[in-house]
Amino acid sequence: MSIKVCVIIAAAGSGRRMGGLNKIVQPVGGRPVLTWSLALFEQSPAVDEIIIAAAEEQVELLRALAAPYGKVTAVVAGGNSRAASVSRALAAASSRVSHIAVHDAARPLLSSADWQALLAAAAKAPGGVILAARPSDSVKSIGEDGYLKEALDRNSLLLAQTPQIFPAALLREAYAMDSATLESATDEAALVAKTGARIRYLQAAEPNFKLTFAADLALAEAELRRRGCLMADSPFDSLPAMPAFGQTALDAPAGCKLTEDGLRIGWGWDIHRLAAGRPLLLGGVAIPHHVGLLGHSDADVLLHALIDALLGAAALGDIGSHFPDNDPRFRGADSRLLLRQTHELLTKAGWRIINIDATVIAEQPRLQPYRQLMRESVAAELQLAPQAISIKAKTAEGLGEIGRQEAIAAQALALIRG
Ligand code: MG
Repeated sequence: MSIKVCVIIAAAGSGRRMGGLNKIVQPVGGRPVLTWSLALFEQSPAVDEIIIAAAEEQVELLRALAAPYGKVTAVVAGGNSRAASVSRALAAASSRVSHIAVHDAARPLLSSADWQALLAAAAKAPGGVILAARPSDSVKSIGEDGYLKEALDRNSLLLAQTPQIFPAALLREAYAMDSATLESATDEAALVAKTGARIRYLQAAEPNFKLTFAADLALAEAELRRRGCLMADSPFDSLPAMPAFGQTALDAPAGCKLTEDGLRIGWGWDIHRLAAGRPLLLGGVAIPHHVGLLGHSDADVLLHALIDALLGAAALGDIGSHFPDNDPRFRGADSRLLLRQTHELLTKAGWRIINIDATVIAEQPRLQPYRQLMRESVAAELQLAPQAISIKAKTAEGLGEIGRQEAIAAQALALIRG
């Protein structure tokens, strides 16, 4: 039996245990937590549609995050409880699916193999099937007096995870129960069991834990690295810009932290032709010379290399994607403004610049006397101390187009921290 699935992603949880952290939009492995599940379901042929139940104040943000995923048909505002949220998503599910799966947005580690196995099991399970893990610790029950009561036989215990998948009619029947029953359930299996259905389980082969505490983000990142799937095929790259990520300080770093300490490096290179009747601008400093650089903007080759280095470090695209050279808005543009806008983009995404190292390659004029001016100019634009900026000058020893004074090139490195 081939099944057609609607996946409901429960994303309305408050994240209280994470200290108010907006966990499902936090970056893990280079993309927001929620989008790991979205990418998996988007690529699964059995999945017909995806519906997200979001906290009311996050509906717009999650719509933006979900935009690259064509199977997402609705982002609905959830209710005060998990059941109320899933209930609203159910109302938006199409009637053409045979099965409905419910998955926690805070479980970004669901593996493709576990999902495939779950689908295969669901096709043969009239009462539905859930993904689960066996407890590895000893399990005790506790009394209200604060003392341990009894040791439970862990071989008869199971930790219920998600996805939990059921025939569509069965899940709808379960959600038709009275609201007190709905409110008391912590997962779909608890509700479906009340209909008398017998539910199967499948032990997850890969870690699939729920991000509950702030430290879980680091654990999830380590697991993704172990699987070698950091940033794999991320449709997230096609998003126009990182959305604003909440208010708290903990929410702020919205970029991709790929190293332990959040450091990232970027490289940029640019070259412009020299022509008569043009000013020579390098690092925002006008340098007296009989020829200048030709370009759509003011052709400040040093700032262009620097902009690319900064965008590169944050993986936010390149200068051409932000300031196209066929856009009339940037004709004759002051590249210092472009640099400032680039800096704003990085700041918004949670990055700050640590240092810059750049080299200008020009046969003429001699740039040594202008190095300090260029440093100060760039430092002022980036609101950094001049000590954080290094600008070096070289000639091309008379070789090639630069040596023939037909062009000037620049290279830049930027180090940033998330
Ligand atoms: Mg350029």
